[in-house]
Amino acid sequence: MKEMLQKILAQNRCWIKYGKVANYIPALAKAEPKHLGISIMNIKGQAVTVGDCCVKFTMQSISKPLALIQALLDSGPVEVFRKVGMEPTGDPFNSIVKLETLKPSKPLNPMINAGAITTTSLIKGKDSIERIERLLKLVRTMAGNKNIGINREMYMSEKETADRNRAMAYFMRDTGVLEGDVEEVLDAYFMQCAIEVSCSDIAAIALCLANRGLTIDGREIVPGDIVRVVTTFMVTCGMYNASGEFAIKAGIPAKSGVSGGIMAVVPGKMGIGVYSPALDERGNSIAGVHVLEDLSAWLDLSIF
Ligand code: GLN
Repeated sequence: MKEMLQKILAQNRCWIKYGKVANYIPALAKAEPKHLGISIMNIKGQAVTVGDCCVKFTMQSISKPLALIQALLDSGPVEVFRKVGMEPTGDPFNSIVKLETLKPSKPLNPMINAGAITTTSLIKGKDSIERIERLLKLVRTMAGNKNIGINREMYMSEKETADRNRAMAYFMRDTGVLEGDVEEVLDAYFMQCAIEVSCSDIAAIALCLANRGLTIDGREIVPGDIVRVVTTFMVTCGMYNASGEFAIKAGIPAKSGVSGGIMAVVPGKMGIGVYSPALDERGNSIAGVHVLEDLSAWLDLSIF
């Protein structure tokens, strides 16, 4: 397995030069574009890692399915889906346009920024610290790593430059989707995006979803019905407006983030974490996407 991963890594390094590290959040621009790491954890909990799999990066949008899990646990599906839809958008992750044009106005799904800010508002807590503590507890338990925390520099960098997310959030308060203190909800959202992990953490979290929400020793962390909802969203909306293409080419439920990480869940088989910060034009890790397509082909991982 390690040898195969090393081959896949070597043959996909060439993609990096066609991508670009995100810079709209200034701290993201500091990433080393050459980094490429892959980590796989199988259903027995055995891990194989190659490349830069120990490099730390922030979750960014990979936090969205996890915030959705916590919101579903805290507020229940009726309340969550009263506020957020279940449909893919075909638009970029930070698009604002459909918030006004769709009637009634609600974000189309929890994997785009507007929907994710809304799910964060549905995590219980009197303030942003309480909300993020609940989410961190879930992330640490799923990853089996109690040292996972928040990268403060990234959190502050996003908070200082988040005019677009702020605009969406205030718009959603106007339409009644978002309730309460908008800045406080945004603060929790910026912190969740800045949760710092490695590929191995991502593989372990993905494995928990692949194992129907159970730890390797059989403890339930996420109820099976919530796992099903979240992995379905990963298929239909997890790779932004490239989700359809990725479903055809790789066929694995996955969620990407602008930091260059991708979390991929192969139900009943394995969890995969990939990291490479150079992104394609839709904001997905360019080498990461190709690595997952190759892995899927080599190991016959498509769920379709
Ligand atoms: N923090 C980023 C943002 O809100 C997350 C987006 C992403 O990873 N696609 O813009």
